[in-house]
Amino acid sequence: MSVKVRFAPSPTGRLHVGNARLALVNFLFARKQNGIFQLRLDDTDIERSTEDNARAIERDLAWFGLRHDEFARQSDRLDRYELAAERLRASGRLYPAYESAEELSLKRKAQLAGGKPPRYDRAALRLTDAERAQLEASGRKPHWRFRLDDAPREWDDLVHGPTRVAGSDLSDPVLLREDGRPLYTLSSLVDVLELGITHVIRGEDHLTNTAAQVQLFEALGGPVPVFAHLSLLTDASGGKLSKRAGALSLEALRDEQGIEPLALASLLARLGTADPIEPRTSLEAVIEGFDLSRFGRAAARFDDEDLVRINARILHALPYEAIAPRLGALGLSAVDRDFWNAVKPNLTRFDELATWWSVAQGPIAPVIEEAGFAVEAATALADEPFDADTWSRWTASLKSRTGRSGKALFRPLRLALTGREHGPELKVLLPLIGRDRALARLRGETA
Ligand code: GLU
Repeated sequence: MSVKVRFAPSPTGRLHVGNARLALVNFLFARKQNGIFQLRLDDTDIERSTEDNARAIERDLAWFGLRHDEFARQSDRLDRYELAAERLRASGRLYPAYESAEELSLKRKAQLAGGKPPRYDRAALRLTDAERAQLEASGRKPHWRFRLDDAPREWDDLVHGPTRVAGSDLSDPVLLREDGRPLYTLSSLVDVLELGITHVIRGEDHLTNTAAQVQLFEALGGPVPVFAHLSLLTDASGGKLSKRAGALSLEALRDEQGIEPLALASLLARLGTADPIEPRTSLEAVIEGFDLSRFGRAAARFDDEDLVRINARILHALPYEAIAPRLGALGLSAVDRDFWNAVKPNLTRFDELATWWSVAQGPIAPVIEEAGFAVEAATALADEPFDADTWSRWTASLKSRTGRSGKALFRPLRLALTGREHGPELKVLLPLIGRDRALARLRGETA
């Protein structure tokens, strides 16, 4: 049996790191088993779903490198959910209930106050035909609930291990809203069955619903898929991540923080496992190192600092070939292998390459602290052409002329030539700066 998984976001907002992790784990699981990765848009909530979000989700996943093999959207499949509901009605498992949201909330409060679990009391099942007719005549429209049986269901969750929940501990789930539209439990389940999903890998927030869903799979006569419920991401101190969903959207990580997709993948493929986080410079390497069985039940802490650190480590490891196709977009087509190799150890994000390029090309404001030394340095600078040895010859001659060495020699030269205390090796920058610009900078001119 070949593996098929799905990532099923609702296009009611942008993807954030929590979604990205689920998408990635599904993708990696599929790739590792030569299976199929499906993207499914859960867009039955028409008030909150937007096309803009749907397009952003596809864009974000493409940026992340998670190409889907199959695509489905629930708004295309409403007739399938209606048919399934029809079958459940015919078998007596789907029943109309008329309570308003407020009535249900009052019932829940009363149960909690009495120390009881908040479970739907099935009052709707005790309505007589006459009472039902009266409610309908008064304009009430029913929502539809799936009647669970009391028996426990057990499944072997790939993360949580054997898990057992009794139907008697659960509320009959609502499958259809008053307006006839399906809710997640029904639509998601019908999709699993009809689209041949073998493994449902999703967030732990869906764990308790699973027992009800197992009953629904049975009622619809389909095989129960394998489940894996991943622990949710928390922030570095164990708090809820959702509060920062905006700042942690893939868009913000990409556009505002300059995070590399491989940095995110390297981190998210390991968060929630005891394995070390290793920077991977290709998605193939992330796939290679992935193992779902390594994921545990403990909360997975997401720390922005880790992401920034791993981002830098990935940039430092990327060969010129990997970045060459991206240079044009930054207007840096002239950047060659030597420049990349010289500058990359200084990068924490890719677009800083432009900063170093402009340090070489100018104009920059030099910093001259000792005018006398700058004059001396200008006098000792060789004629062009400059090459990779120009810098060491220049500094050697300055050393013997002035007796300076170490910091006293190098710091003023760096400040004059780049206007900064730190940066890439000057032996690589100097030929790019060139003699005229170097002399102008040594004179203190912006060049
Ligand atoms: N649309 C659901 C969600 O975002 C999908 C959950 C699932 O994978 O079953 O929570």
